[in-house]
Amino acid sequence: PTDAHPTDADCRLPVLGDEVRAPLAGGGEIGYAALDYAASAPALRAVWDEVAAYAPYYGSVHRGAGHLSQLSTDLYEESRRTVAAFLGCRPDDELIFTRSTTDSLNLLAGALPAGTQVFVFETEHHAALLPWAHHGHTVSYLPAPRSTGQAVATLVTALADAAPGPKLLCVTGASNVTGELWPVAELATAARRAGARTVLDAAQLAPHRPVDITALGVDWVAFSGHKLYAPFGAGVLAGRADWLHGARPYLAGGGASRAVTAEGGAVTVEWQDNVARHEAGSPNVIGACAIAAACRALTGAGFERLVAREEELLSGLRAGLASVPGVRELSLFGPQAARVAVLSFVVDTWPSEAFARALSERYGIGVRDGLFCAHPLVRTLLGADQEAADGCEGPLKAIRVSFGAGTPAEHLERLVRAVRELVAEGQPAA
Ligand code: PMP
Repeated sequence: PTDAHPTDADCRLPVLGDEVRAPLAGGGEIGYAALDYAASAPALRAVWDEVAAYAPYYGSVHRGAGHLSQLSTDLYEESRRTVAAFLGCRPDDELIFTRSTTDSLNLLAGALPAGTQVFVFETEHHAALLPWAHHGHTVSYLPAPRSTGQAVATLVTALADAAPGPKLLCVTGASNVTGELWPVAELATAARRAGARTVLDAAQLAPHRPVDITALGVDWVAFSGHKLYAPFGAGVLAGRADWLHGARPYLAGGGASRAVTAEGGAVTVEWQDNVARHEAGSPNVIGACAIAAACRALTGAGFERLVAREEELLSGLRAGLASVPGVRELSLFGPQAARVAVLSFVVDTWPSEAFARALSERYGIGVRDGLFCAHPLVRTLLGADQEAADGCEGPLKAIRVSFGAGTPAEHLERLVRAVRELVAEGQPAA
């Protein structure tokens, strides 16, 4: 092995679940192959160890004078600083611990100034697509681009026609369906030139690539701990403070309120105008500690090394799947587009659901089938795919495979072998 082609043995990050066995339909069992990292990734052992080391010292955050409260408060605030550094935050940025990406984007949607126009591609994940109209904003849904250049051009045209007033672009860094990378820095530049701000949905990007808010030139970043090997119920919204400080608190309650008075049957509240404004209630210190531990572990391993390993495994997987007749990978920007370790495919001769079930029951492989909370995107991709298949009636759902830093090469080899065998067999008669 050379440095340029690291082996599986020396580069895989240890995760929990390696010893889990899955029952096989024909009897017996097999080591479970978790190939659904895009939904939820397994915990890194380093994350688990840090959480376990802290757990005996668990205490209230910002709510106690005792030793453990002080310790937990320090840990929570230190975790905030660690994650902010991981994201390359600017000195004035705020970092709010939320429950997830969905929570973060809804929080931001509730914090936009009145009259904000939002721009979002109609092919986005529902978490990036839906919060804006839900919170009463005017939304321009941009049509699916078929290249990264077309994405930028589409945005530039839409912004040129926009009325004056606050504007926001929401864009996903890496697709949860195709893994394809979006031209985030270029889109953010185009947005900025037109006076619009940008929020990056980094749910699928952050586990696979470094995300630097400053270098990308975006205003906010959102991601989820459970996709970043830190499954303890926390997420992050980081970025510019002004709109957040000026907004109605996300939740009303303790912590978000600085002073509350009751007089003559009326209650008056003075809200915090710092990060606490949107963190009412007792915070999830374990979740925050887990995300910080994941950031440290990924930074310590080095993204360069992780990306090199991932790309080698991904190109092997794609070549393996492409060699099976009747298996077609879905893609918005074309087969050559840069992507992370997430891919979706359809099998001509099998419905996706039955295929995914067979992978689980007969090979112990966990994938996902369906439309992946990105219905317009998957329909667009399947539509194009059907046309390519010369008008034959195509499948209505796809199969998604996703992996990451904890995936052994054997899981991907097993998947390709399983796909080849199942396709050769054909779908069993009902
Ligand atoms: N955005 C993208 C691109 C995603 O893949 C997901 C999760 N599938 C989300 C947002 C939502 O993440 P969560 O379910 O953790 O809120």
